[in-house]
Amino acid sequence: MTKRNPQTLIPVPAAASPPAFRSYGRTDLRRLPQLKQLSRDRLQAMDIVARVLPFKVNNYVVENLIDWTRALDDPIFRLTFPQPGMLRTDHFNEVAGAVRSGDREHLLATIHAVREELNPHPAGQKDQNVPQLSDGTPLPGMQHKYTQTVLFFPSQGQTCHAYCTFCFRWPQFVAIKSGRFAMREATLLIRYLREHPEVTDLLITGGDPLIMRAKILSAYVDAVLKADLPGLQTIRIGTKALSYWPHRFVSDPDTPELLQMMRRVTERGLHLALMAHVNHVNELQTGVAEQALRNIRATGAEVRSQSPLMRRINDAPEDWTTLWQRQVRLGMVPYYMFLARDTGAQHHFAVPLVRAWEIYSEAIRKTSGLARTARGPSMSSAPGKIEISGVARVRDQRVLVLRMLQGRNPDWAYRPFFAEYDERALWLDDLRPAFGEREFFFEREAVAAGDEGDEFEAVAAA
Ligand SMILES: *Cc1c(COP(=O)(O)O)cnc(C)c1O
Ligand code: SF4
Repeated sequence: MTKRNPQTLIPVPAAASPPAFRSYGRTDLRRLPQLKQLSRDRLQAMDIVARVLPFKVNNYVVENLIDWTRALDDPIFRLTFPQPGMLRTDHFNEVAGAVRSGDREHLLATIHAVREELNPHPAGQKDQNVPQLSDGTPLPGMQHKYTQTVLFFPSQGQTCHAYCTFCFRWPQFVAIKSGRFAMREATLLIRYLREHPEVTDLLITGGDPLIMRAKILSAYVDAVLKADLPGLQTIRIGTKALSYWPHRFVSDPDTPELLQMMRRVTERGLHLALMAHVNHVNELQTGVAEQALRNIRATGAEVRSQSPLMRRINDAPEDWTTLWQRQVRLGMVPYYMFLARDTGAQHHFAVPLVRAWEIYSEAIRKTSGLARTARGPSMSSAPGKIEISGVARVRDQRVLVLRMLQGRNPDWAYRPFFAEYDERALWLDDLRPAFGEREFFFEREAVAAGDEGDEFEAVAAA
């Protein structure tokens, strides 16, 4: 084990001319040289999809993560560039027709109508379960669903360095507010944490909080450190920057400030966990990603990883075996495999629950114990996070074995339960209780408690 000398924790010198971040959007589809090889039809189809769903990619992703000799099959291309199948044929044709019509009003109305039909995350995603201070002040930038962990969405962190095609957080990718809110938000957050000493984990999430300048992010983090909350153990930061812009940890102008802020957290004796959203091993192969990890870990932070399982992107068992093995090698800790939420382009990306379990178990069998910290496949559903534990035969009946990992009711955590075997089920709603029972235990208890259930968010990055 190397002994760390604080003097050496300063990040390695930046490259002679560190690359500047350049972001590309829909109108760049016609300009990017790498795309010239694609057919006209294909480009047009991508343009149609990008009119409805958010599209943003950047120079690092385009130049380093995609194998352009086989672009259409490339997982990162599929992860970041609009895919024709993401829109249903009828929606696609409506938008294509509206584009051809040349009538701008009609086009905008059509796009709007299609978006509405895609059931974007309920607008109230973050407004449901809004926590309150004891004096009734609502805290709309926070979520507190599971006892120990509070989610905090700083208002300046609601975008990302690139967008994942499967992500349906687009309603929140629009309004980015000014930095003036940081101090007020931090003050409210701290008041809330003081009132809730049971909270051990603060999860700063987005979008991607690392889109923020170090100065703004530090305003939040330092306020938390200064508050010296006795119950707080861990600060987690949910991010995809390691994959989409690893220069964030290597050569951005404010990288030293960011790394120093991270080190302040660990030197305070708190656990700092970077919750890295990584979908595919190709995101972890570049020299700059490796350097980013070294710099992060030199601050004393741990890096945990999570990813949803997506058809066409990472739905082969080998995808996960190689991903987890690479992560362990780089010093990351695999944390979660999630399932595609039942919204938006789920028809394009979803993997059935039974198949997801097969992929997970086949993948994990090929790893050593150090990679088996990856939990899943897990569904972030209304009653809680539910793990597909496996398929079993009980008295001649095939059943799905499930386990509540985190429940809306804390007493539900780790309770096993059973559903009828169903190879096509994509989500909890598709499942029926096994053994002729009428309800799952959490439905019974929820009704008993007079709880009607609520809409739920899917923590995608974070
Ligand atoms: C996953 C999740 C958490 C964190 O749960 P852990 O088991 O502590 O990782 C907190 N809040 C919400 C809403 C979540 O989905
Ligand atoms: S999945 Fe995460 S990184 Fe990807 S677009 Fe959504 S919030 Fe951003």
